Amino acid sequence: MRAKRSKKYRKLMHQYELTFGFRESYQVLVDSNFLRATDQFKMELIPALERTVQGKVKPLLTKCSLAAIMAAQPINPKTEKPYRPLFLPPPTELPLRHCSHNADSTPIDEIECLLSLLSPGTETKKNKEHYILATAEPLLRKTNPNEPKRRWKTEEDKKEEEAMNRSKLLRSSARSIPGVPIIYVKRSVMVLEPLSSASEMVRDGHERGKFRAGLDLDPALGKRKRDGEEGDDASETEEPKKKRGPKVKGPNPLSVKKAKKRPDAPAPKKAKKVEVADAGEDAPAKPKRKRRHNKGIPDDFNGVEESEPMQVDA
Ligand SMILES: [Zn+2]
Repeated sequence: MRAKRSKKYRKLMHQYELTFGFRESYQVLVDSNFLRATDQFKMELIPALERTVQGKVKPLLTKCSLAAIMAAQPINPKTEKPYRPLFLPPPTELPLRHCSHNADSTPIDEIECLLSLLSPGTETKKNKEHYILATAEPLLRKTNPNEPKRRWKTEEDKKEEEAMNRSKLLRSSARSIPGVPIIYVKRSVMVLEPLSSASEMVRDGHERGKFRAGLDLDPALGKRKRDGEEGDDASETEEPKKKRGPKVKGPNPLSVKKAKKRPDAPAPKKAKKVEVADAGEDAPAKPKRKRRHNKGIPDDFNGVEESEPMQVDA
């Protein structure tokens, strides 16, 4: 995985830790499409997941997902049971998550099952167990490009269309539950989706709460700090700010700093690079600076980036 992307994912998971209380090793609910896709694209289940979330994982398969997988398998005439598919990892690698929805715990629809685990209870949507959802777009048949386009839909076409719609439904429903990280495999690439708007709302509310708590200690504090004065209470505001994700607080202090520096003297090249890469996390500034970024940011650059916003804040 490219360094830039892994850094982005590490920050994302950090947000899930701060806002929603995620901890390693992360529990990952994998669905049937995910297993088919990782097999198809020759990804190793656990290493691929761990590279994506940048931490230890514990993948789980619900009983209902397993039932969905087996229902799609051909039947072995000797045993009259479905063949175990090759894409299904052994239980030592992928243990079952026992979900009992009914009294007799008969399996239910896979998507309903997953959503009921991601958000148990009815009153508020909450990912209590801190699950990550790992899913994929359904594998579609290979179509022959030379084949003339049909004007009608075959049964197979309709099936694929429905599978695609269900996959979209699962993800959009999961996004509506705050605090559900979604891993998604699309055309041989495993991605971690950015925070959903439902998750962002919780995070922002969370952060605003912290900020207010800091201000309540001394209403004049905010103003004084900006004038450059240092008081005893500085340490008290420091804490809530530190806990905040660097993404939110980062860009502002940095841009202030930059404006001051330039008229004085042209910044040395090294310092410039630091700023450039810092801005890399700031979405609007990204496209412009991409080229310079590629020229060679040292690998040990991580430390600088992470400590920078804090220094400015203090
Ligand atoms: Zn279930």
